[in-house]
Amino acid sequence: MIIVMKSSATKEDVAKIKEGVEAKGLRTSIVVGEEQTIIGLIGDTTKIDPRSLEVVPTVEKVMYVSVPYKLASRHFHPEDSVIDVSGVKVGGGNYCYIAGPCSVESEEQVIEIAKAVKKAGANMLRGGAFKPRTSPYAFQGMGSTALDILLKAKEVTGLPIVTELMDESHIEEFEEKVDLIQIGARNMQNFSLLKELGKRTTKPILLKRGLSATYEEWIMSAEYIMANGNPNVILCERGIRTFETYTRNTLDLQAIPVLQRMTHLPIVIDPSHAGGKYWLVEPMAQAAMIAGADGLMIEVHNDPECAMCDGAQSLKPEKYEALMTKIKKIEELR
Ligand code: PEP
Ligand code: MN
Repeated sequence: MIIVMKSSATKEDVAKIKEGVEAKGLRTSIVVGEEQTIIGLIGDTTKIDPRSLEVVPTVEKVMYVSVPYKLASRHFHPEDSVIDVSGVKVGGGNYCYIAGPCSVESEEQVIEIAKAVKKAGANMLRGGAFKPRTSPYAFQGMGSTALDILLKAKEVTGLPIVTELMDESHIEEFEEKVDLIQIGARNMQNFSLLKELGKRTTKPILLKRGLSATYEEWIMSAEYIMANGNPNVILCERGIRTFETYTRNTLDLQAIPVLQRMTHLPIVIDPSHAGGKYWLVEPMAQAAMIAGADGLMIEVHNDPECAMCDGAQSLKPEKYEALMTKIKKIEELR
């Protein structure tokens, strides 16, 4: 249930309603908009008689929300959320451009790539430290050593760091060292991990869409993090599994307008893992920005032929720079 206050309602009017509702055992989420304040009710709303609220002179209207996600819903929070990643704003007209290698391989590699992507216009650096690989025999990432290498690259370039967390035992280390915590496609429904992220960190989370997750399942995963105390979630579409085998996955560009209608959270597109081919990255990245994405996450490698992971979908720094020139033009059109 949502209570929309009149534009003339004061802070005290809002507090009075909040107290009354919470006294009945419900939780509230208050969003102060430019025009109006909205009070979202979370919990068993059968305890509330909407007519008793509708007659309050400071209340404009009372609405029911039938979706199972409340905190992530656009109804509860009509304005776009702007997520602050160590000073880089994402959402509401602020774009994030995350770039870097699939995996951290060495200090020289990461620093060289970090400098190149920064020069090209990236505002965050990615690099996998703990890698979710399909085969247990494949390279699993350099772990904590990689986090320290990313920190050095941050020192040199000033770019905030994005890297994937796979295990809750690393939350404290990520809290200390990482600016944007990525939850990979394979962990999108690891509910115990999502709950811990809500409780143990307020660092922003980049929540990738599961390999075959519906929009609602994906938003419910964001809701898990938010309901446990961390409102800072950015969604990332990275391609879904379809019957097509020519490409690694199929990029769902419809997710951009659909998710923007369903939620207020920013949405970033990862064309690298979607297509799995470097030459698909540029057209899909441009299409995503035209369709309204809040940013891009792109794999860039200085020597893709020799990359430990995902070389085939990685752009060389020159190609990334050329792409970013086109992306900046699209930004101007929006
Ligand atoms: C990645 O970003 O390197 C990655 C493993 O992504 P995903 O979880 O989307 O497969
Ligand atoms: Mn990768």
